[in-house]
Amino acid sequence: MINVGLIAHDGKKPEMVSFVVANKAFLMKTKIYATGTTGGHIAKEGFDVECLLSGPKGGDAQIAALLATGHIDVVIFFRDPLDKHPHEPDVQMLMRLCDVHNIPLATNPKTAYYILKGIEAEIIREAKIRK
Ligand code: PGA
Repeated sequence: MINVGLIAHDGKKPEMVSFVVANKAFLMKTKIYATGTTGGHIAKEGFDVECLLSGPKGGDAQIAALLATGHIDVVIFFRDPLDKHPHEPDVQMLMRLCDVHNIPLATNPKTAYYILKGIEAEIIREAKIRK
């Protein structure tokens, strides 16, 4: 089971909803952790989501702690580069820990798409090896 962390800044929440709907077949087979408000939007689309705190209240830090302790395999974080965020230090910390722990991090939908395709291809390849 792949564990995915999903976060979207306010200006990017519509893009996150479109992304999860477009990739529903794959994401339904994953365990999803999300920051509070993002998670609420995703849950409305029929996903089972482990909702953490809202980002500005510590949700990004919770995602960071989960990935640092091996509980999240990939992070999709649609950041809004055109807005200011009070929790910018947490955002930087989360991205730093992705690099510390070699966790794939997508900050826009196209990168996220290619990461999911890559994971899918790896799962298929491993299944073939096991046969
Ligand atoms: P939210 O947090 O999903 O609770 O809005 C996201 C963020 O701004 O980090």
